[in-house]
Amino acid sequence: MKSIIDDKNILHIGFDDTDSRYGRCTTHLAFKIVSNLKRNYSLNFLDYPLLVRLNPNIPWKTRGNGAICIRLRTDNNKDIERIIEDIRNELERCSYIGNGANPGLVFFEGLEIPNEIKEFYRFAMFDILSKQKALKIVKKNNMKCFAYGNGQGLVGATAALGCILESDYTFEVIAYRKSDNLQTSRKIDVLKVIDFDRSMYPYTFNCYDYIHKRVLIAPHGPDPVFCGIRGEDPKILLNGLKMLEIKEKLEGYLVYRTNQGTGMHLNNKLELANTKTYTSGFSRCKVVTNPYTIQGGHILFAVMDNSDTCLAAVYEPTGLTKIASQLHIGDFIEIGFGVRKATSKHTKVLNVEYILILKAVNIYELINPNCKNCGKRMKSEGKNKGFQCKRCKTLDRYGEKVKLLKPRTIKEDLYIPNAKAQRHLTKPLHRYGMEKNGWNRKTDVFLNWFEIFV
Ligand code: ATP
Repeated sequence: MKSIIDDKNILHIGFDDTDSRYGRCTTHLAFKIVSNLKRNYSLNFLDYPLLVRLNPNIPWKTRGNGAICIRLRTDNNKDIERIIEDIRNELERCSYIGNGANPGLVFFEGLEIPNEIKEFYRFAMFDILSKQKALKIVKKNNMKCFAYGNGQGLVGATAALGCILESDYTFEVIAYRKSDNLQTSRKIDVLKVIDFDRSMYPYTFNCYDYIHKRVLIAPHGPDPVFCGIRGEDPKILLNGLKMLEIKEKLEGYLVYRTNQGTGMHLNNKLELANTKTYTSGFSRCKVVTNPYTIQGGHILFAVMDNSDTCLAAVYEPTGLTKIASQLHIGDFIEIGFGVRKATSKHTKVLNVEYILILKAVNIYELINPNCKNCGKRMKSEGKNKGFQCKRCKTLDRYGEKVKLLKPRTIKEDLYIPNAKAQRHLTKPLHRYGMEKNGWNRKTDVFLNWFEIFV
């Protein structure tokens, strides 16, 4: 029997770059689009909306280089055209076009996303892609697309559509403010945040920075986001929203499935000779100069792999400088990094995002030998003149300095930036070993992932 759900009823929607430094928010547009779809059409969502973070090292992002993908199945195939039209209108109305936003909006009809689009996403996580390349894919796969401003948003929109999140992923519930409250400051009970964070560990992350005593779930300024809570399970996150006992009347919330906290942008191995500016990745390499500190407390050292030598930089706010300063020539390490553009002062620099110390070499210091007669450390008589004991005056004309193993304070371990300096994609230490592996779109969508408060 032919399935009543044919390919034509399925629509994938990707969009990006609707906000700018001057305002608006792409996830809030997602919230509005979902609420309109739910209100006006008979349809099912095939997945949570995806909040897709792309290469964080591109220079033209507004904040966290986030894009959105929504996948749905309509009961009536005739609705598809109207849905596309509605979303286009909503995006035009809610984007900051002409004020720094360059939105891209793409639609793909059919069940399976073609591999070419999935590959585009894979590269968008660590490379720099052109809108021409996105356009080529869009045309080849008969996708509808709309681009505004300089059209760069097409890259993020197409990449988001190709993001399937089949292996590791996390969730974020974002609660939105009513427009009347946007100018007021957010009132969040710090103790309740800490209480939630402690009671739900390790199933939540980046709620509170215990070192700098800062709440991390809420942005500042006139953003429509009231707060965003991240973690492993939507039910725990919604419970977190309740535990916060937020007094402000909110517009509603939406749960996103996301690649945040997965470290995915650093998953590809880069040869040091082939690192392109603004790309992200990792390298296994040897430390070839001892670290030195520059103004601002940042640490620089050179690393080498089979292909080339590069300068690596560890910035003071990451909290990694203490570890970096203890590295030594010969140490074998893995670093995750983004490639900073070369300047007149420096060739390209690897901005370090994590350090994994694989092998800390033994370090020796050369010291004077002990007196063979009384055991006391001898004094040098001058270059090539041997040593004399100051206590018993024994002379040793042919004595040589001896090698003494210096204890290393550094441990072979993984080091990541402190919470305040982490990017959306940074994988928290406690998530190592907790990675998810698989997503079942038929059974895994939890019912209460969206709500509008009246
Ligand atoms: P917010 O997090 O507030 O939503 P943002 O940081 O996501 O904002 P955008 O305004 O979306 O910033 O700008 C990012 C721009 O970079 C978009 O135009 C997007 O298409 C583009 N982009 C994203 N990833 C890549 C990539 N790998 N190569 C080239 N362009 C990219």
